[in-house]
Amino acid sequence: MKVLKFGGTSVANASNINLVKNIVANTTTDSLVVVVSALGGVTDLLLNAAYLASRQSEGYKSVLKEIEDRHLDTVKDLININAQSKVLSKVKSELNTLETLLEGAYLIGEITPKLSDKIVSYGELLSAYIIGEYFAQEGLDSGHVDSRKLIITDDSNEKATVNFKLTNANCKNHFAASTHKIVVMGGFIASSEKGNSTTLGRGGSDYTAAIVAAALDAEVLEIYTDVSGMYTANPKLVKQAKAIPHISYEEAMELSHFGAKVLYPPTIQPVLSKGISIHIKNTFRPENTGTLITKNKNEKGKTVRGITHVGKMALLSLEGPGMVGIPGISKRFFEVLSQHGISVVFITQASSEHSICVGISEADIEHAVEIVNAAFEVEIERNKIKPAIAETGLAIIALVGDNMKKHQGLSGKMFSTLGRNNVNIRAIAQGASERNISAVINEGDVKKALNALHEEFFEENVKQLNLFVMGVGNVGSKFLEQVRQQHAYLKEKLRLNIRVIGISNSRTMAFDEGGISLDEWESRLAQGEKADKARFFGTVQKLNYRNSIFVDNTASDEVASTYHSYLGNSISVVTCNKIACSSEFDNYQQLKDLARTYNAPFLFETNVGAGLPIIDTLKNLIASGDKVLKIQAVLSGSLNFVFNNFNDKTTFHDIVKRAQEEGYTEPDPKIDLSGIDVMRKILILARESGNRLEIGDIKNIPFLPEESLNTDNNEDFFASLIKYEDRFQEMYAKAAEADSKLKYVAQYENGEASVGLQQIPKGHDFYNLEGSDNIVLFYTQRYPDQPMIIKGAGAGAEVTASGIFADIIRIGNF
Ligand code: ADP
Ligand code: ASP
Ligand code: MG
Repeated sequence: MKVLKFGGTSVANASNINLVKNIVANTTTDSLVVVVSALGGVTDLLLNAAYLASRQSEGYKSVLKEIEDRHLDTVKDLININAQSKVLSKVKSELNTLETLLEGAYLIGEITPKLSDKIVSYGELLSAYIIGEYFAQEGLDSGHVDSRKLIITDDSNEKATVNFKLTNANCKNHFAASTHKIVVMGGFIASSEKGNSTTLGRGGSDYTAAIVAAALDAEVLEIYTDVSGMYTANPKLVKQAKAIPHISYEEAMELSHFGAKVLYPPTIQPVLSKGISIHIKNTFRPENTGTLITKNKNEKGKTVRGITHVGKMALLSLEGPGMVGIPGISKRFFEVLSQHGISVVFITQASSEHSICVGISEADIEHAVEIVNAAFEVEIERNKIKPAIAETGLAIIALVGDNMKKHQGLSGKMFSTLGRNNVNIRAIAQGASERNISAVINEGDVKKALNALHEEFFEENVKQLNLFVMGVGNVGSKFLEQVRQQHAYLKEKLRLNIRVIGISNSRTMAFDEGGISLDEWESRLAQGEKADKARFFGTVQKLNYRNSIFVDNTASDEVASTYHSYLGNSISVVTCNKIACSSEFDNYQQLKDLARTYNAPFLFETNVGAGLPIIDTLKNLIASGDKVLKIQAVLSGSLNFVFNNFNDKTTFHDIVKRAQEEGYTEPDPKIDLSGIDVMRKILILARESGNRLEIGDIKNIPFLPEESLNTDNNEDFFASLIKYEDRFQEMYAKAAEADSKLKYVAQYENGEASVGLQQIPKGHDFYNLEGSDNIVLFYTQRYPDQPMIIKGAGAGAEVTASGIFADIIRIGNF
């Protein structure tokens, strides 16, 4: 004997019911009971119709119509035309009674729990009847029983208590006398001894199946649903969640109590006491193994088995000086809640006696405040206790596992993961069984918290990085291309899953919660909404993804001014934009402080030397206790190009023009030639070496004539270069005479920084610098005479993009 239960989605329509039939037909056993839910969504529709009727809203009629259509369509699709009229007339007659009940509620303008149970029972009554008829038509040896004849409860409604003595006897007698191999019955519904319809609570069909399985000593209880078992986390919220192959009764119970809806919590008890295993399987993928729930079936060594959450929670606290040392306060507090049927889901223990704080369902909170205030009226009047405080919009998240108690450090890991992801923890509790550690957090953080914890405990370090990319010009588009190419490699080798969730240029912006396909980002962006920096940030914040990274590939000061908001919300920032780090020292310092406080890296390796690891190397030197004595560097690819090509056979004007045309300078070449760009770079290196410097502190001895510097457009600028050609030739000749080359050098020593053109003699490290290469010499306490040298291509979109990429990987490995 086996008991199979099929949930709402599994029987939602004719084609799903056909899959159910195949599973039943292929089940090998001597006899079997098939417990079914109402057609998916019908219970909600029935409750909604009842509610509308009770509010005297005509709207109930259209809901009823939808219920009717669902059932009549299913019959027409399933039952052969010649047998349809019998089944249709039975279904219609039940629907007529349902209509009468709803009409009654509408006329009176009220609905009692008793009437509500009666109305809602039609869902399972109808589904079981239709499915039973269909099975018989398809040649299965199948009959049908009204569950209300078997499952007997007390007289309470909406979640009645089962009378096991009567129920077990009824089941035994009925099935002993049954002439069919297969019996179909509705879950969830029952009746009181007096014969009134009752129900077992939402999701209660699982429970019905367990009750029948225990009563009949079934060999197994198979629960078929729309997912392949009990997962490490709700698969609808955590994409990476996996089905747990084996789990103990206790773990399954804990997971379901804390929100794993796949199993209705009371289901375990009846089968546990008989030692009957539960097998959760997927109706739509019956070949999948699913989850087997048995005694002590914990896989060796596994500590955390699942992560769950319960939403719509509230905290209720009572506090005041009058609570200290007065016995019986908590007793009265809990008593009054229990007398009013309010269940306490969560208790936090405060170390002082000053306060009691409990987690209850949000639906109960108003009532709870009222009754607690009434119960402590006298103390509140005398100012010994403050009126009860309610906090709503909360959720509980819980880690569950039998072996958790044997391991230290799990809660530390849990809370540091949440902290790192900026999830505020309102309260903490560890179940006495130590099978569960739970925390109260804001409901809006649930998805992020579940995913972050799942990554930490189950994904063997496959870390998801969620990028929000602003600026898709030269550098930005190269960067996206590199991410696209490396995606598979990074996932496999570095266990990093990089997703681009949002992109923006100055015109439009686009988001995709599942990640934008990098094959089509251009068209997605083109079809995006109007760009807006504040709304871009708002969306990043609202999506609230773990490991969010804002990537700035622009040169905009407006974008740089948004970094505070990102870092202050634990969102990392990676940028090639030099503006923020070369702005006022206080601003730079504030960004670094925010990064530290909110655990969100702020990385800008590409601000100096594009992709060359200059800043990172400097950081490592300092972190390991070294001290910078002097920095000498050639940091401008553009100026290097100009002075490498300029000689007595060319003109300075032509070379600058060529540099501009070939993309080696900014569109306005004066930004490079005036030295401002190099000033920013040496400023950043000086700051990263631990010095408080402003841009105005940097000496800049310009080599351009005053007049060239004062031009305000490119035309005048180039004209002035022609005018002063002699002066440039003179500079060249002097250097050549001294067997030297001209290089634009940045220098930092003893707290002072300068930039300017220098004659570099043969033999010097800078002498042979080619093309647009950069070079940095770090003279430190550990490298006093022979400096540490970093040299290579220091400009260009490709290498800058790869530098940004490297920063992102650094965050991934953080
Ligand atoms: P049925 O109608 O078959 O009884 P339910 O909707 O009651 O199905 O339960 C299945 C759903 O439970 C899944 O679709 C999933 O969204 C949800 N769920 C929540 N937590 C878990 C979990 N840990 N494992 C599997 N499913 C879960
Ligand atoms: N149909 C009921 C509900 O939706 C019972 C169940 O499906 O388990 O709650
Ligand atoms: Mg269910």
